[in-house]
Amino acid sequence: MSTPTLPTLPSLPRAAKRNRVQVPCACGGCGRLTKSTWFPGHDGYCTGWAVRLERGAVKVADIPAVVVAGVRRMWVARNPGAAWPEAPASK
Ligand SMILES: [Zn+2]
Repeated sequence: MSTPTLPTLPSLPRAAKRNRVQVPCACGGCGRLTKSTWFPGHDGYCTGWAVRLERGAVKVADIPAVVVAGVRRMWVARNPGAAWPEAPASK
C-alpha cells in the first residue's frame, strides 16, 4: 500500500509591488529621505544616545540638538511611561 498524496496547489500570482512614499528620517537632523522610518544607521545612532542617557553617561544637554527628537523617540520606546529626563526650565 502506498502513501496517499495530495494534489498540488495552483501557483500563486505575484504579490503587487508596494509603492512606498519617501519620508524624512525620524532622527530629525539629517533631512534624508527613507522608505522606512529611519535612514539606515540613524536608528542605531539615536538608540546609542538613548542608552547612554539611560545609564547616566550623558545628559540631554550633551545630545546634539539636531537629533534630540530622534533620541527622545528611541528613549520613550525603551522607557514606556517614564518622563523624559530633560531639566525643567528654570524660572
Ligand atoms: Zn537621520
